Amino acid sequence: MRLSQFHLRTTKETPNDAELVSHQLMLRAGMIRKLASGLYTWSPLGLRVLRKVEAIVREEMNRAGAIELLMPTIQPRELWEESGRWAKFGPQLLKIKDRKEQEFCYAPTAEEVITDFARNELSSYKQLPVNFYQIQTKFRDEIRPRFGVMRSREFLMKDAYSFHLHADDLVREYRNMHAAYTRIFTRLGLEFRAVLADSGAIGGDASQEFHVLAGSGEDALAFSTASDYAANVEAAIAAEPAPRPAPGEALRRVETPTQKTCEEVAALLGIALQRTVKSIATMSEDGFVLALVRGDHEVNEIKLGKVAGMAGYRMATEAEILEHLGSQPGFLGPVKPAKAIRVIADREVAALADFVVGANEAGFHIAGVNWGRDLPEPDAVADIRNVVEGDLAADGGQIKLARGIEVGHIFQLGKQYAQALGATVLDETGKAAVMSMGCYGIGVSRIVAAAIEQNHDANGIIWPSAMAPWQVAVCMINPKGDAAVTEAAQSLLGELQAAGLDAVLDDRGLRPGAMFADIELIGIPHRVVVSERGVAAGTFEYRARRAEAAENLDKAALFERLRAG
Ligand code: ATP
Ligand code: MG
Repeated sequence: MRLSQFHLRTTKETPNDAELVSHQLMLRAGMIRKLASGLYTWSPLGLRVLRKVEAIVREEMNRAGAIELLMPTIQPRELWEESGRWAKFGPQLLKIKDRKEQEFCYAPTAEEVITDFARNELSSYKQLPVNFYQIQTKFRDEIRPRFGVMRSREFLMKDAYSFHLHADDLVREYRNMHAAYTRIFTRLGLEFRAVLADSGAIGGDASQEFHVLAGSGEDALAFSTASDYAANVEAAIAAEPAPRPAPGEALRRVETPTQKTCEEVAALLGIALQRTVKSIATMSEDGFVLALVRGDHEVNEIKLGKVAGMAGYRMATEAEILEHLGSQPGFLGPVKPAKAIRVIADREVAALADFVVGANEAGFHIAGVNWGRDLPEPDAVADIRNVVEGDLAADGGQIKLARGIEVGHIFQLGKQYAQALGATVLDETGKAAVMSMGCYGIGVSRIVAAAIEQNHDANGIIWPSAMAPWQVAVCMINPKGDAAVTEAAQSLLGELQAAGLDAVLDDRGLRPGAMFADIELIGIPHRVVVSERGVAAGTFEYRARRAEAAENLDKAALFERLRAG
């Protein structure tokens, strides 16, 4: 490949509407161009990288025994009615109509379509287990598309779906996919971790996410120092708190005229934030519910939603709060509400003695509060908070937090879709049995952005070798048009390609400074300069993208260096 015959268009200026480094660099390198909110064109340069990621994903899926197919991106409403998701999926689902007024959606995922395929194609247990996958465009009408292809509306996903007769087969395939994903992200040269994920109604550890570790990641991840326990903060669990101490203080009403937050109240009273309690007013199927977490903790909405009776809860309105607690927000608490209410205490709150809550009266809190003495024991005690750095982990270690970008998700789905769509096969005894399913996603286009978040410097992208648009750039400096230099550059390109290296010749005739800046910006791992001086000396100037300085090498030494990676 010669760059003079390619479309490369870089810019020096950092686009001011791009927040993340990966988004800035992808625009500056000319890898992507925005068409509309969350919609991007992949330029020839960007597409080279995307295709390299795709190829590795495909190779490893094939190696793991999955079978590739291709499903439409437009899916009929009827199928989504069968699964019950037409109404449930929410505004991320882009619904469209054809000329006959028939309704369709643009695929955000493909459980319905693959289950339909499976119910028609699979009839006997002898065809199982089987894992079908595709690498296909998805559309989700994200509420806030941002960060370029990191969270776009249209994106490329690898989605796989496995079908099983027996639960242990599903577990085996789930582990097989875990191993395949580990190989994929290792080959891509990324620093990643698999973490336990929230698996919705199914529970257990039936779901894991793969995250590329990066400070800019949208997800908070929790790790234990004592074991390989790792979980998305959405799902992470800390150790049980120590038993509740005996009451030591008398109940007292304290004036807090302007102090509404736990921090302000703790500062006024000169007590630790850990002894204050936040009251979160919600409405659930059981009516008004006050959820309590310590002042230094945050409610975890997913965990709270899993407490019995809390599925689909919402925040209470000011009018509902006034009706049930007789107070305005800022001074709420579980002691002596205006009406009988339900109280859900986080485990840590249930283990507190002598704590501080709002008095349900503007300008007042109460301190020295104790369960059983000053208010009834909570109606429910549950883990409803996010873990925080330094928490004791269940394994005795300490919780550390890091940030990650979700690039993959594996999931034991069970029978829900197969049941809803009637996807059965005949089992060993000739009886119809509903199949179990697993599903396994990879955000192919997001990986490109995630890799840049992890690998860049002030001069641009630094591709891991496997993802680079080219591994080697041969930069020809030949202002006089010396035939020997052109000849040397072209024959080096041929030799590199013959050695199995993906190489490009920069024959655009740019000045060295501009040429080198481009090659660094677009992140080529190896740069080789062919110049008049080098040709005369029989050497090439070589520089690895991360190296401090260039060095002059003869051809044998150059190839040795390149082969070493
Ligand atoms: P997120 O939590 O980031 O919204 P998700 O959990 O909804 O993602 P999945 O349904 O698990 O996503 O989809 C599989 C993979 O597709 C994700 O792991 C992610 O890498 C990728 N992905 C999901 N949404 C987007 C998006 N809007 N843009 C780019 N990639 C995405
Ligand atoms: Mg996910």
